[in-house]
Amino acid sequence: MFDNQVSLPMIRLSKVGLGLVMALLVLMVSGQVASASVTENSTVATTVEAPASAKQNSTATAETVKTPGFTFKIEGEWAAQEKSQLESWLSSTGPVMKTVKEVIGPPAQNLTVKVVKSSSGNAGEYDEYNHQITLASLQLSVLVHELNHATRDGHILTNRVWEEGMARAGEKEVMRLLRLQGIEEPGYDTNHAYGYDIYYEQNNVPTVGVPNGNIYAEPGLTLLRYEQAGYAFTKVLIENPQFLSQFDAKVFTHAGGNISQSELVAMAAEVQPVVEGSPLASWVAKQHIFDTNQQEGCYGFERINQFTVDLYCTDQYGGVAMQAGDKVAMKIVAPNKEVLFREVGITTAYGWFTFEPVLDAGVGRIKVVATAKTPTGKVKAATFYRQTGSEKGVFGVITNANVYSGIVSFSSPSGKFPPFSVSVTNGAFNAEGLESLRGQFVAKFSGEGMVAEATRNKDAAPYSLLLTAHKAK
Ligand SMILES: [Zn+2]
Repeated sequence: MFDNQVSLPMIRLSKVGLGLVMALLVLMVSGQVASASVTENSTVATTVEAPASAKQNSTATAETVKTPGFTFKIEGEWAAQEKSQLESWLSSTGPVMKTVKEVIGPPAQNLTVKVVKSSSGNAGEYDEYNHQITLASLQLSVLVHELNHATRDGHILTNRVWEEGMARAGEKEVMRLLRLQGIEEPGYDTNHAYGYDIYYEQNNVPTVGVPNGNIYAEPGLTLLRYEQAGYAFTKVLIENPQFLSQFDAKVFTHAGGNISQSELVAMAAEVQPVVEGSPLASWVAKQHIFDTNQQEGCYGFERINQFTVDLYCTDQYGGVAMQAGDKVAMKIVAPNKEVLFREVGITTAYGWFTFEPVLDAGVGRIKVVATAKTPTGKVKAATFYRQTGSEKGVFGVITNANVYSGIVSFSSPSGKFPPFSVSVTNGAFNAEGLESLRGQFVAKFSGEGMVAEATRNKDAAPYSLLLTAHKAK
């Protein structure tokens, strides 16, 4: 399911699993890469030229100024049919490149990019030193993902959570907009309907953060972290569809992509000051995928959508090692404190174990506690909450274990739906009607003298919401 090619002479930047596209950006270390052989007579060039823009006028007249664009050279072992499909996708006047440019913006300067076919083991890679996209096969979403990296090229962010998160968000947004134009890739999830995305809130815990932003560090969690970082930026895109292109324009004013997180946050805040009702800087601080300072120690993580427990340890240098062959235990407790499930497993070579509890839909809120032991000692328990019932619409739980009933009212700040309420039973609730909503909602809980409020941006897919209640004033 998850590849683990740690011996590659390159930094792996992404992966695919479970039918999801795993598009890889690979940074070649200068000097390690043999120069690509270019067969000129197999080269097809497509020049992208943008309409004149007076805003960019610096040295020339408005009539002659063009925004920078791509020239593509399709090289290598493509079949004739694949080559003509690529030419069509990469045409400057076609819907794909128009949408890419609309969402991500143009590169910093005119850029010639080679598009090569090679089964390197990754679905796709971008090599910023040779300005080359390598695709394992002809797949639009992977091409679009790598075009995100290619657009930043010499400004690819050394903070890989930001780089891959924005590439993933940009890829999904382009694919969503293309779908509206009738261009679809079979099986591609344009709405964040994948299990990891649906449980974004549960995954938003400090242990999802990656030391030094090294999103590829722990193979078992790489895809989840891609989804988490991608959905985080999609939440910004939902409020500001120009976020990525405007952010890239700010990145291009720097010498390269080695930009500190505090500066990235400041730049992002200039583009979009508020997200989900919070100032961007404090919003970023609440999205733990952006945590980069994880302390040395061993951690458990629960992929709660599928009851998988991951076990990994970090060292003082930020190195991450998955823990194979260690004992992990899962305990599931019902709202009435009854223990519904208790089992022990041994982690696989990739440091995880998947439990298979059978739970009645009517149980409501469950508390899922994972514990583990490693050679260096006991791991602090990871406690997650979720519901046992339907996974449709906006569903979720009041996480406080002493609150069982009440009402959750939903409203739309932009008037996308009329306000309504649902009841809370056994600590869980469900608003199925919000499944197709792509936008912002406000949820307010009250019950048993307690209240909670949350403002969230969601895609048109199920969304699990956690509400932590406090005493009503
Ligand atoms: Zn990537």
